This record gives sequence, structure tokens and C-alpha cells, in this order.
Amino acid sequence: MKVAFFSIRDYDKPFFEKANEGYGHTLRFFEQSLNPETAKLSQGCEAVCAFVQDDLSRKTLQALKKHKISTVALRCSGFNQVDLQAAKELQFTILTVPKYSPHAVAEHAVALMLSLNRKIPKAWSHTKEGNFSLSGLMGFDMFKKTAGIIGTGYIGSCLAEILHGFGCEILAYDPKPNPSLKRLITYTSLREIWKKSDIISLHCPLNEQTKHLISAKVLLEMKPGVMLINTSRGALLDTHAVIEALKQKQLGYLGIDVYEEEENLFSKDLSSEIIQDDTFSRLLTFPNVIVTSHQAYFTKEALQSISQQTLAGLSSLEKKEPCENVLWDGSSLSS
Ligand code: NAD
Repeated sequence: MKVAFFSIRDYDKPFFEKANEGYGHTLRFFEQSLNPETAKLSQGCEAVCAFVQDDLSRKTLQALKKHKISTVALRCSGFNQVDLQAAKELQFTILTVPKYSPHAVAEHAVALMLSLNRKIPKAWSHTKEGNFSLSGLMGFDMFKKTAGIIGTGYIGSCLAEILHGFGCEILAYDPKPNPSLKRLITYTSLREIWKKSDIISLHCPLNEQTKHLISAKVLLEMKPGVMLINTSRGALLDTHAVIEALKQKQLGYLGIDVYEEEENLFSKDLSSEIIQDDTFSRLLTFPNVIVTSHQAYFTKEALQSISQQTLAGLSSLEKKEPCENVLWDGSSLSS
């Protein structure tokens, strides 16, 4: 299959080229992100491969359709960037990679927790400057702290295993509880989690129900000084409310790998530019906030798995074989 890859960076290419040795697809790589204007780059291809920050709105899907593209392979697990209604109406087939390395994301969530708790970035910059004083670096034991996990799918359940190893008491909320986790965690209501948790980590999808799940009201229900970690999707947080809670010291620590408006920022080197997003800039000023730029998935193992599963999925579609990574099969409607 001829596939146009959007938002490709230098580090992506070798993984797809290596994986493709086993499949023989024709791969065209574009650094540009996918949007209604760049969709034309896919001309002559049969499928596009898109990432988290790509625009898969109705307009883009219509533009792709003009170029006879009916297959979108998402090389990520979330699919909130796709207008699913439009995709269904336009008979697109959508592939995702639902489980590539949940450990990568769960481990990054823990890295954020420990970096915030033990103030590792500050400690390292002090040490490099010859400041060996411990003032301002005091942390807390994770042992016996209460951690609240929102969403216990692939990533949330990996996190539960890790935090269980630390000796945390683990509370969780998921509309579909996983019975096999009951040995590690106690499923409870969101309200109980807000009230009792010292650390809260979000691992649910972004959708209409979860948008701004962390609102001003919910932040007030949390324990003063709570640590909040978000490696899922930026819009799970109402960022303005979070900034206010940080200013009021209600929120004690914030670790985020995702941001509501990250499309304009993340995966670009803007170090010589003036950042125009004042909300984001304000977040960077807090000493108790750590922001990483959507890198939680970014491990060698995850990239190997993403490239392998993406190309395998496209081969299955080409051969009209069943494929478990199909989110929506538009071809079943057209046939
Ligand atoms: P998953 O589908 O395996 O798990 C999501 C869980 O959330 C499911 O168990 C589901 O029942 C639950 N859920 C649904 N609605 C909920 C709600 N309203 N409240 C609480 N839980 C709810 O997904 P996953 O692979 O564990 O990924 C979780 C999220 O992590 C994805 O949606 C994606 O946005 C994000 N993600 C981020 C990165 C990154 O690099 N930062 C990488 C991969 C995934």
C-alpha cells in the first residue's frame, strides 16, 4: 500500500523503515502536520498515517476523500482528534494502535511524580552550581500515600502495579472496572478519590464526558496540596482552573505531559521564538509544575511496537484479513 505519513520526525523514520522490511509498503514521509491544506500531499497514496497533533476534522477528511484516501492509520492509541461522525459518513476506515507500550506511559507518569516530589530538576541545577544545601528540596515518602487512578485500562493498570510496588494505597475509578485489579486497588467514586488522594493520575480517554473533568469545583474537593498528574490528554484539565488552584496552593504539584493547546507548541523547537500562549507560559513559571511535551510514549520499545502494528494493520486491510486494530471499518459500508 502507498502510505503518506504526516508529522514525521527524524526519529520516527528509521522505525517505520525497519518494520517495513517485513511488509513492503511504499512509505512517503512528510514533516508537515495533516490539515485541510496539507491533505493534498497524500495524492497518489491509498492511506494516510497520522499522529496525535494532526487535524482529522470533517474538512480534512473531505480533502483526503477528494484524493481517493479512505484509510487513516493513527499511530497512537487516543483518537479524540478524529471527527468520528464525519469519518463514518465519509466511509473511512480508521486504524489505531490501542496498546503499544502502556509501560512507557505509566513509567513516565511515575517519573513526573518522583521528579515533583523529590524536586529532582531543582536539585540537579543546585548541584551543578555548587549549591549543596538541602533547603527547599524536602519530599515525602510515597509509601502508604493514597494514589487515585482515573481510568484503569492498559496504562492505568500498569501504573497500579508500579504504585503497588511503592506501597501506596490505591483508589481507582473506571466505568468498566477491571476485576483482575481488585487485588491491588479499591474501586470507588470520583468524589472519594478527590477527597482521599495525595496523588491523582489521569488515564482515561478525552471525550465529551471527560472534557474538563478537572474543573474549579473538583479542584476544591481535593486534599489541599494534592499532586495531579496528566499524561492522557490536555483537555481533561481546565487549565485556567488549574492555574488558579496552583496560585491558591490548593494544588501542591502538577505534572503534565499533555496540554489543551499543544498542537501549536509540542514536537517543535520553539526555543528561539516568543511563546504566544500566555496560559502555557504562566504554567511554566510555577516552581511546583513540570511540563514535558507529549513524550510519555517515547521509548524505543513503544516506537518499535507502533511501527510494527501500524504497518501490519495496513497489510491486513490490503489483504482483506481481519485486523484487531480497526476502530471503524468504512469498507464494510461501501461493500
Ligand atoms: P484504555 O482504553 O486502555 O483505557 C482507558 C480507560 O479509561 C478504560 O478502562 C475506560 O473504561 C476508562 N474510562 C472511560 N471513560 C472514563 C471516565 N469517564 N472516567 C474514568 N475512566 C474512564 O487506554 P490507555 O491505553 O490506558 O490510554 C489512556 C489514555 O492515555 C489514552 O486515552 C490517551 O489519551 C493517553 N495516552 C497518552 C500517551 C502519551 O504519550 N502521553 C500515550 C498513549 C496514550
